[in-house]
Amino acid sequence: MGNISLFIPHLGCPHKCSFCNQNTITGTDGHRVEPEQVRAVCKEQFEKTTQKLQVAFFGGSFTAIPKDYMIELLETANEFADEKYFDGVRISTRPDCINSEILDILKKYNVKAIELGTQSMNDEVLELNERGHTVEDVENAVGLIKKYGCFELGLQMMIGLYGSDEQTERNSFKKIVSLAPDTLRIYPTVIMNGTKLGDLYKQGVYKPFGFETAVNLCVDFLLECEKNNIRVIKLGLHSSEDVKENAIGGFYHPAFGEICGSEIYRRKLEKIVNKQNNIITVPKRDISKAIGYKKCNIKYFANKGIELIVKGE
Ligand code: SF4
Repeated sequence: MGNISLFIPHLGCPHKCSFCNQNTITGTDGHRVEPEQVRAVCKEQFEKTTQKLQVAFFGGSFTAIPKDYMIELLETANEFADEKYFDGVRISTRPDCINSEILDILKKYNVKAIELGTQSMNDEVLELNERGHTVEDVENAVGLIKKYGCFELGLQMMIGLYGSDEQTERNSFKKIVSLAPDTLRIYPTVIMNGTKLGDLYKQGVYKPFGFETAVNLCVDFLLECEKNNIRVIKLGLHSSEDVKENAIGGFYHPAFGEICGSEIYRRKLEKIVNKQNNIITVPKRDISKAIGYKKCNIKYFANKGIELIVKGE
């Protein structure tokens, strides 16, 4: 299954989350995506697809945009409801922008998946980063969404925000798991120019933990999600012009997922590899993970005096 991704900027967003540079990028308050544009993109995608597609309204705050406009966009997406490969609509929004009236609308317009920008499950971190919502808002929104029983629930968390440390992240993640979402997106924080985080970082007030800690946390969370049947649908930010031009710190790495995959493999190898048992055979598709990003696993074992030899089967 795939998505037809439509980015709906949060017009006139009243918040100023510490990490968000949406207003900096787009001038004052973003540009409006017109239903005709949605229609054109959907038409093009449904004409050429051979797999199920969800029309995905991303951008963080879909249910916070003016109601008439939100309904216009949902109606446009539903013009494609009879297409063979139409698989409903997915949206992402803020936890404090969910209520019964909104959920009734979403249900009526074939919304199948709702993703909530949770970011942290620690009130102090949420406040320091000016999210404008609390942990309780997240819990209430999750409870209400689950009560409807017709939505797939997704949560999004950010690792390493201002005011957070390794233990805060672990506690936050535990609470996320206890909410039993179907999916999770994990975004290690990227510090962008033109944001509060950027200013605090330049002033030396915000000192995020190291890259290695971020990788270790993500790897632990990935493994824990696997155990708890939570699908991780995204790890790390996409490379984009904005990120390339404006990132000044944090945990952006174009191969973040690959680095975590290598670390997961290294942990497995650690249990079986030693000087007498240094030749391992793995499925062909796993060879690069076993060797590791930029041969990091080979180097890791070499530092321990072990020549790791990886063979594919
Ligand atoms: S991340 Fe925060 S500031 Fe940025 S658009 Fe979303 S709610 Fe508004």
